[in-house]
Amino acid sequence: CGIFGVVGVADAANFLALGLHALQHRGQEAGGIVVHDPEQGFNSARRMGYVRDNFTSAEVIKTLPGNVGIGHVRYSTAGNKGQTAIRDVQPFFGEFSMGGAAIAHNGNLTNAAALRRDLIDRGAIFQSSSDSECIIHLMARSMGRTIPDRMEEALRKAEGAFSVVAMTRTKLIGVRDPRGVRPLVLGKLGDGYALASETCALDIVGADFIREIEPGEMVVISAEKGVQSHFPFRPQPSSFCIFEQVYFSRPDSIYGGRSVYETRRQIGVELAKESPVEADLVCPVPDSGTPAAIGYSHESGIPYGMGIIRNQYMGRTFIEPTDAIRNMGVRLKLNVNRALIAGKRIILVDDSVVRGTTTRKIKDMLLDAGAAEVHFRIASPPTAWPCFYGVDTPQREKLLAAQMNEEEMCAHLGVDSLKFISLDGLYRANGIEQGRDNSCPQYCDACFSGEYPITPTDMVAKGFEL
Ligand code: 5GP
Ligand code: SF4
Ligand code: MG
Repeated sequence: CGIFGVVGVADAANFLALGLHALQHRGQEAGGIVVHDPEQGFNSARRMGYVRDNFTSAEVIKTLPGNVGIGHVRYSTAGNKGQTAIRDVQPFFGEFSMGGAAIAHNGNLTNAAALRRDLIDRGAIFQSSSDSECIIHLMARSMGRTIPDRMEEALRKAEGAFSVVAMTRTKLIGVRDPRGVRPLVLGKLGDGYALASETCALDIVGADFIREIEPGEMVVISAEKGVQSHFPFRPQPSSFCIFEQVYFSRPDSIYGGRSVYETRRQIGVELAKESPVEADLVCPVPDSGTPAAIGYSHESGIPYGMGIIRNQYMGRTFIEPTDAIRNMGVRLKLNVNRALIAGKRIILVDDSVVRGTTTRKIKDMLLDAGAAEVHFRIASPPTAWPCFYGVDTPQREKLLAAQMNEEEMCAHLGVDSLKFISLDGLYRANGIEQGRDNSCPQYCDACFSGEYPITPTDMVAKGFEL
């Protein structure tokens, strides 16, 4: 999901709509905005579908007055796939004795089922099926004297991945879980401030990027007092999601002082060093494979070409909720550039192999178009484990790499060769020269390594074997 918040700016809703639009790649199912105005109080709008279709008209924006607000774009990870109900659309709102507050959450709480059961037993009335709603109910039960105090207490009970933006009548609040699994960045926006999942959302509103919110940090921001920071959780090693670097984030966003584009290009360079092959053309599977293909071509000296053309009016297959839609999606979204492909040995670069369905179809399309050979190079290691921290990987049984080794996958996909980047290569591409620290990995890479930095409590209770 994508989250965005602003404080201390006139007509916050305009900025929120723009910021969410820049984060649309993080969630395409639904979006919501909450704002506060001293005269008109809290107002909100929650809608299914794209930001541009819901939040750009003057009629909608005019119902959302105020100088402080937060917003969320959603894609469902847990349960309810393909049937997001409007009741599950964030931000969530609560009235407390000291006033109202709204929250928007990116990530997945790994103990949400346990928390929810306990909260319901103690009388909480849940409105949604979302794990994020637990945070509001935990806040309601807190004895904290201020909303930030209550949030802090609530989040100390939460396990898993959470980047949260929240708001009161006058304040914008941002929090990252102690391991900083999901991103959150801070920007200066005119006389006010903005919080966003990624820097690309700061760019679109013309905010200056100040810094990342640190793992375990909480910031409370108001127009009068500026940014107040503290660290309410027990410190832990950081575990930023390495898949944000590979696929999830936009390439124009910046983490750790380096653009995601540069990291992805570097993955292609590492791939070319690790797994060279003789061929005539390097082609990306657009758009997710593009920067890595550019890097591969550069390092190998094999020309780069657009062998597959993407229809720009389709969303990301990743985000499409059901297998049926996802399968259709491949052909609706991608077409082979026959004139370029025919008779050539092709190196195809993609970001990941998950179920293998996309990969197989693309290979078929290339061979139909007369490609002489098809070699796949993948910008991540084999995805053999599900993510429990907010990225929608399917159950383990559906992951190709959980069933087969590289050779078997190559035969199954029917390609001339198939190579994945190594874990160390991926870390090197992220600027970590010595590679992965196996005793304390610098990133979360659980979907590749099976080493989960945070115990997935609910899943273990359901019998998931680590
Ligand atoms: P596959 O056909 O192997 O399932 O899909 C691989 C391609 O689709 C990659 O280009 C990836 O970007 C995208 N994709 C499709 N579904 C998913 C998913 O559930 N998780 C991830 N990580 N990527 C997916
Ligand atoms: Fe990211 Fe994979 Fe870790 Fe999930 S399991 S947080 S996708 S690296
Ligand atoms: Mg892709």
